[in-house]
Amino acid sequence: MRRTNQEDIRMKVLVMNCGSSSLKYQLIDMENESVIAKGLCERIGIDGSKLTHKPTGKDNYEVESPMPDHTTAIKMVMDALVDPQHGVIASTDEISAVGHRVLHGGIKFTESIVVDQKVKDVIRECFDLGPLHNPANLMGIEACEEAMPGKPNVAVFDTTFGMSMPEKAYMYAIPHEYYEKYSIRRYGFHGTSHMFVSGEVLKFAGLDPEKGKVIVCHLGNGASISASIGGKCVDTSMGLTPLEGLIMGTRSGDVDPAVLQFIMNKEGIDVNEMLNILNKKSGILGMSGGISSDFRDIEAARAKGDHLATVAMDAYIYRVVKYIGAYTAAMNGVDAIAFTAGVGENDKGTRKEICEHLSYLGVKIDDEANDVRGEARIISAPDSKVKVLLYPTNEELAIARETVRLI
Ligand code: ADP
Repeated sequence: MRRTNQEDIRMKVLVMNCGSSSLKYQLIDMENESVIAKGLCERIGIDGSKLTHKPTGKDNYEVESPMPDHTTAIKMVMDALVDPQHGVIASTDEISAVGHRVLHGGIKFTESIVVDQKVKDVIRECFDLGPLHNPANLMGIEACEEAMPGKPNVAVFDTTFGMSMPEKAYMYAIPHEYYEKYSIRRYGFHGTSHMFVSGEVLKFAGLDPEKGKVIVCHLGNGASISASIGGKCVDTSMGLTPLEGLIMGTRSGDVDPAVLQFIMNKEGIDVNEMLNILNKKSGILGMSGGISSDFRDIEAARAKGDHLATVAMDAYIYRVVKYIGAYTAAMNGVDAIAFTAGVGENDKGTRKEICEHLSYLGVKIDDEANDVRGEARIISAPDSKVKVLLYPTNEELAIARETVRLI
């Protein structure tokens, strides 16, 4: 049933991001896209479970109580939302729908979708592709169905933004049978963030909504870059899994696969351990000799002259610059480059260092405009040939908007 616009704008949407032992939520009033409450359940299924509920304009509220599973956690979230003292709504009837972040949609989903049994089956079929996240995402959906029967649930996949990539960008140069048999291809991740920021940048920078060429640098602890034309992804740096592409906090990004075989043989480790090293012990953490996965610590060590921290930070910036160059070539030009996520939104020095390598594109940064954190703003000089922006990501709002669009 399609609702009228009048009904749409009164909607309150609950956004859920379920991990294997955690659950993050936001209740968003879609009339003005404001957060009414947000919070976090930690240690689900483990001793010491805790709910932290943050109602806007009221004191935070913490409950320590056993949460053996996601269903119990979601019931506690519902209780907090309607609590006479700490709550923000009179009854859960006020929640129009629930939007779920789901990691992997495989090749079957090219868009967000209202959840039914078939959708749940496909999320389950994709457990192999997203072994850490998809099972938890499905648990979250089923727990919401149980706690709020009849309420629409919408799945918003991290992978659907990348589904508009052309075959030349998403196919790996390996035997085709692996695509046929196992859907091995490049998918890309952080899709909700790239979709949100690239769409917002088209409007904010006044670009052609159909033809505007935008590169989004999502630089957080996990990091990825996307190239899009008219808000449609043409390439993105993560692959079958989030391991490909940029150097990240703890992930290696691109690496010669033969390095794996060499290290595994020399160290006598199996492929699971090797991948654990590439996912959790590499990136700036590994390159710096273990200083930290936090960019602030690496920058502080570099400022004191630490050699490995300097190499790690230089290599990180160099990789971003190479991807920007590749994506500019892939699109035969670029109109805007946007920075987002933890490093992108907060670190003016890194933004400036990256842009200093882009003078060949006519990029000029305005130091005064760049002296900003977490605020949507054009940070390039008026005569810069390419607009450079800081645009804070908001994955929860993107999920809530997709939810409203679909119900
Ligand atoms: P994720 O969602 O991938 O965990 P975030 O987008 O929250 O990551 O980004 C976290 C990263 O942002 C951390 O590595 C942190 O060091 C970095 N960060 C936050 N503030 C700054 C800053 N002022 N300077 C440099 N890095 C920062």
